[in-house]
Amino acid sequence: MKNKAVQLLESANLRQTSPRLAILNVLLKTKAPLTREQIAEKIGANAPNKTTIYRTLTHLVEKNLVHQAYLEERTWHFELAHNCGKHQCHPHFTCTVCLQTQCLTNAAAPMVQLPKGFQLHRQQIHIEGICPDCQNKS
Ligand SMILES: [Zn+2]
Ligand SMILES: [Zn+2]
Ligand SMILES: [Zn+2]
Repeated sequence: MKNKAVQLLESANLRQTSPRLAILNVLLKTKAPLTREQIAEKIGANAPNKTTIYRTLTHLVEKNLVHQAYLEERTWHFELAHNCGKHQCHPHFTCTVCLQTQCLTNAAAPMVQLPKGFQLHRQQIHIEGICPDCQNKS
């Protein structure tokens, strides 16, 4: 059976390179969006250098295999695009107590009506609140 990362690259007509496969494999295994540093950490000792990770991620974003899920403290968090609709990403929920962010893959929101002249690319929603675990602890 083919590795899922290989299938994703083939679907986008991209060559299989080790940085692409390493990044996609990490994103396939994780449930929440990751920063570049976290991706490098998870690849481990054989991780490509920072510049390669940066370029590879930018390329995967251009090819729509990876989405920039949200910006937090000036750092983008990346995830696979496969849980998103054509014009909308699933919402993300950040707990203000434990600071964990979760993907709400089953939640969808109505599309915002844009003023005249604006063109929609993608709607992304980032919600802050208190997660169920933290509510139970208090
Ligand atoms: Zn998305
Ligand atoms: Zn929490
Ligand atoms: Zn997500």
